[in-house]
Amino acid sequence: MTPKDEALRILFAAIPEVVGDGESVALDEALGRVLAEDVAADMDQPPFDRASMDGFAVRAADLAAGAAELAVVGTVAAGEVADFEVGPGACARIMTGAPMPAGADAVVMVERSRDLGGDRVALEDETRAGANVAPRGQDVREGEVVLRRGTPLRPVEIGVLASVGRDRVRVFPRPRVAVVATGDELVPPGAGRPGPGQIRESNAHMLAAQVAALGEGIRAERLGIARDTREDVDAFLDRGLAADVLILSGGVSMGDYDFVHVALKERGLAVKLERVAIKPGKPLLFGSLDVEGRRVFVFGLPGNPVSSFVTFELFVRPFLRGLTGRAATPLEIRVRVAADCAGRAMPRTQHLPAVLESTDEGLGVRALEWHGSGDLRGLADANAFVVVPTGEAPPAAGEMATVLVIESEALRRSPRASRG
Ligand code: AMP
Ligand code: MG
Repeated sequence: MTPKDEALRILFAAIPEVVGDGESVALDEALGRVLAEDVAADMDQPPFDRASMDGFAVRAADLAAGAAELAVVGTVAAGEVADFEVGPGACARIMTGAPMPAGADAVVMVERSRDLGGDRVALEDETRAGANVAPRGQDVREGEVVLRRGTPLRPVEIGVLASVGRDRVRVFPRPRVAVVATGDELVPPGAGRPGPGQIRESNAHMLAAQVAALGEGIRAERLGIARDTREDVDAFLDRGLAADVLILSGGVSMGDYDFVHVALKERGLAVKLERVAIKPGKPLLFGSLDVEGRRVFVFGLPGNPVSSFVTFELFVRPFLRGLTGRAATPLEIRVRVAADCAGRAMPRTQHLPAVLESTDEGLGVRALEWHGSGDLRGLADANAFVVVPTGEAPPAAGEMATVLVIESEALRRSPRASRG
């Protein structure tokens, strides 16, 4: 059994470097993608000396004494360029965002002015050259790289791209992901009440949603339910291996009808992981194979729904992030434990479903009541897992613990439907 840390190392080492210059997308489609080019500014920003207040454009030297009465020689609105100069003893009305008129070097805000009538104004402010003026090129210089290849595009980066005149950008391609559920007992959720011995298929739906929750517009194609026969597994592999990443649920333990291993190995799967020392989890198949010159990555996740969820979060999510050029580490943080965690030390790294919450004392975490690895409903209250290292007892109240964050949205104090 491979220890968790070692398994993550093996997984990250398998992530191929993102090469090439990606694909071009419209700016409005670029949110959540990763930039595949360096983007430079096409001009200075601000592009001209710009007033940053409504008020009066003045020559600072005229206000050296602290106050002055000046002649108003014109007005400059945003979007206009003054066709006059501001000479000694003169000033111009100016609006925020307007270019400074020639001759003026500072802005006195309108709140510090008194209209004297007859195009004269009294300004009661000492000022210095440059006051309330954003000089040309202050924020960005023409030719300067403003965003580097590999940057994930959040709303602020979309704004930066627009500001340098880009309405299309090159981003890393998205992997094609396929999901296959395996199991003779499984029936689709829309098929009515399951018959004797049958259970509802939930993993493939959940896994496809976990893929979509990456938020990069990556979608998983759900191919359906493979029966536990060699023929059916092979038929689904034929389709699934057309993707870049194939996620299989179930059939990777050591049962008599677990054909996934055998079928993949016969196709030349280079196995990198088979069993990882985690709970829930354990059986976890990971490897790659060449399909007509393409590298395809395969994950075989345990069929148990909770194990399926956790192994995706721990291994598949970081891997898919890495494939798109993002940081490929699980989001683990150190947090103080609010209440004793139940359980005992185990020879595997344990992951206890937990609630991570923002409190007046800072972030806190508490493990949830949970009935073990079949309890998907119990997991639905969780937004995190307390990570209990191999051989260590679960942490007690007041101790620090490593927490795997699965849903940062829930850190907002939102109402949750809880048990009881
Ligand atoms: P397996 O890994 O195929 O041995 O399955 C382990 C357990 O998970 C069994 O109880 C299965 O019935 C259940 N299971 C397997 N696949 C799914 C699925 N897609 N949805 C819900 N439960 C599943
Ligand atoms: Mg099965």
